[in-house]
Amino acid sequence: MSIKEFVSDDWTIKIDHDKCTGAGDCVDVCPSDVFELKDGKSFASNVDDCIECCACVTACPTEAIEHTSC
Ligand code: SF4
Ligand code: SF4
Repeated sequence: MSIKEFVSDDWTIKIDHDKCTGAGDCVDVCPSDVFELKDGKSFASNVDDCIECCACVTACPTEAIEHTSC
């Protein structure tokens, strides 16, 4: 398992890089530009900018994203 954790004061985003295909849906739907792709995997590099809308969790086709607020 290769689960990356991105921790903010009030929430944590976990991305399972074994499931992530680099589809980029999370990058496209996030209104706060939280995600970026590096080497075909998603990173929630700007986790502090999240507004807890949960769009990324819904959009990911492989259910790779877990969000403690969603
Ligand atoms: S939407 Fe899911 S599979 Fe696509 S890049 Fe984001 S985390 Fe990876
Ligand atoms: S919950 Fe919304 S704002 Fe937060 S990372 Fe996901 S899409 Fe972006």
